[in-house]
Amino acid sequence: MDLKSLIRDIPDFPKPGIVFRDITTLLRDPQGLRYTIDFLAEKCIDAELKADYIVGIESRGFIFGTPLAYKLGLGFIPVRKPRKLPAPVYSVEYELEYGTDCLEIHQDALHPNSRVLIVDDLIATGGTASATAKLIEKIGCELVGFGFIIELRDLEGRKNLPDVPIISLVEY
Ligand code: AMP
Repeated sequence: MDLKSLIRDIPDFPKPGIVFRDITTLLRDPQGLRYTIDFLAEKCIDAELKADYIVGIESRGFIFGTPLAYKLGLGFIPVRKPRKLPAPVYSVEYELEYGTDCLEIHQDALHPNSRVLIVDDLIATGGTASATAKLIEKIGCELVGFGFIIELRDLEGRKNLPDVPIISLVEY
């Protein structure tokens, strides 16, 4: 299936010069949605990642990470923006183009010997995924890979990630 044909390009969003890859058009397509999750699951199985948990990044990482976890028979753990999670958290700050941002995970979400696959909709510079990897390291878990629907190759986000398998379904 041609997933690119279901992803909508929105030029100059959220600011001039950025082409926003809009996955809402993919999500509303029944065959497209099913194919996306099945294809991602298949690639994870082929890569023999043997994850115990999917860690999904707010908020589009939740949309793809949860059905992937269901399909693979794994648990799902959310990484959220600050002050959203109710129990004690670990936090990580990371650099944005202008300023910094922060992500959080529940301190008791993972046992230190768990194997974790991080999922988000898209990798651009890799800053968000790399910050999430730091949270996993902080807990002492084993990071076994990353899964993305979309990869923006020109931004070379892979170079900013730890040396584990990186799965993506569509490249721009
Ligand atoms: P980065 O940290 O630079 O890898 O950016 C990844 C995060 O920003 C993901 O959570 C994406 O949802 C979002 N993002 C970055 N660039 C785009 C884009 N061109 N279109 C849609 N989402 C984007």
